[in-house]
Amino acid sequence: MASSNGNGGVWDKNTPLRYVTQVMRKLDDGTYPTEATKCFCGIEPANDSVLTERDRYTIPHRMVLCENCLLIRANPRMTKEAYEQFYNNEYRKIYDGFPYQEKSEDDDFLFGIAYEKAKSLAQKQCNLFLFNWLKCA
Ligand SMILES: [Zn+2]
Repeated sequence: MASSNGNGGVWDKNTPLRYVTQVMRKLDDGTYPTEATKCFCGIEPANDSVLTERDRYTIPHRMVLCENCLLIRANPRMTKEAYEQFYNNEYRKIYDGFPYQEKSEDDDFLFGIAYEKAKSLAQKQCNLFLFNWLKCA
């Protein structure tokens, strides 16, 4: 079913979905290779908590929370060359292809998970900080 996309055109959900499928196939067959990422805080070994495995369009894109510094990052992520191809070939067709939403449900979902994990980790780190501080005082 077609509807207005708010940009003066007629929206057809099959168009962006075709590109979603294309990206998934390229990830699957290695056309878009991925690489593991380390957190900027440098902790070894990594101490990550998985927040989500896919993005809002169900494209595999694991987001993790570093339990050491609470930074959220993609791990693994596409290589630089794969991202360049993705942004040139599919990104606009997918992300401009769906009707505009002020805020997506998965943003709330991801934020909710991240917030709860961060709060609980911050609480633990705060307790540890207080414990060490009291020991030194
Ligand atoms: Zn970190």
